[in-house]
Amino acid sequence: MKALIDKLAREHILTRNELVMLIKNRNPDLDSYLFEQAVAVRRRIYGNDIYIRGLIEFTNYCKNDCLYCGIRRSNKGAARYRLTDEEILNCCKTGYEMGFRTFVLQGGDDAYYNDERICALIRTIKNRYPACALTLSIGEKSYSSCRAYFNAGADRYLLRHETADDIHYKKLHQDEMLLSARKQCLYNLKAIGFQVGCGFMVGSPFQTASHLAEDLLFIKDFEPEMVGIGPFIPHHDTPFAREPAGTLEMTLFMLALIRLLLPGVLLPSTTALGTIDPAGRELGILAGANVIMPNLSPPEVREKYLLYDNKSCQGEEAAEGLEDLKKSMDKIGCRIVVDRGDYIDGS
Ligand code: SAH
Repeated sequence: MKALIDKLAREHILTRNELVMLIKNRNPDLDSYLFEQAVAVRRRIYGNDIYIRGLIEFTNYCKNDCLYCGIRRSNKGAARYRLTDEEILNCCKTGYEMGFRTFVLQGGDDAYYNDERICALIRTIKNRYPACALTLSIGEKSYSSCRAYFNAGADRYLLRHETADDIHYKKLHQDEMLLSARKQCLYNLKAIGFQVGCGFMVGSPFQTASHLAEDLLFIKDFEPEMVGIGPFIPHHDTPFAREPAGTLEMTLFMLALIRLLLPGVLLPSTTALGTIDPAGRELGILAGANVIMPNLSPPEVREKYLLYDNKSCQGEEAAEGLEDLKKSMDKIGCRIVVDRGDYIDGS
């Protein structure tokens, strides 16, 4: 197995069978070998720098019904909220003062926020904070909507593909949702000029090693600037309430493989990883991740943006916990930088 990791580190690609074999045979010994190489690649490209993004969860209304997600439209138990423009701008102000130079607007797929409102918001934020990058994570949109957001000044777009296998995708989403449409949106975003992020959940229901290999091959082929992955965690009011969560170990393994597949990729150590293990965020960095996205949403709405149970929004997950986060990064030989943190082509 180590020979496969050497090959991956050298060539940045493996075949489907090789990836499946690695995934099926992961073990602690292999983990440390892989993480060492992944961290070496991260250091070669990004040094000790860890980029931070201020995550603003501005609406939890959603027209979709993803079976895994706590803010799916059928969840009548979710307390819905929308932030006003003023509240969003206040988040940016707080974040800017703390040293954030990227804001991520994330939300459910909420029709209230039509193109006109989103574009107006983008213009105001970019106008007030010209030194900051603005990332959108607001679901699948038409080509013309994406173009309008880009023209208004948005820099980046996160849209996880969720799984690169059509049949698996169907099992995770309501009938109207199609993997082909999600992929088309990703291709459109790229063609328009966004820095684009895709990604998937590790350990989502029905996922197999060969699905994971397919995800990695899709990512390699698509060449995104960012990849967001995290363990699936059940939410009590969804059809997947009783499904087991993804594991810390497999998520770390995937992070490290992604770092070797796409050396320069911006790779967050996500909230979900910090939720399944108190040391998750640090361990993610030690497996090759180089981005952390603390929560900048107003504290009173944080508990309502509940994608999964026990979603962490305290301590180092919260923007207010930035000082603690800095310390814990210091301890592992990394440093949080005040920087837009754009993609560096590491090839
Ligand atoms: N509406 C936006 C943002 C979705 S929330 C969109 O469609 O892109 C952001 C991500 O959270 C999702 O892409 C999904 O991968 C993840 N997520 C949702 N429910 C989850 C769960 N139960 N466990 C782990 N991650 C989850």
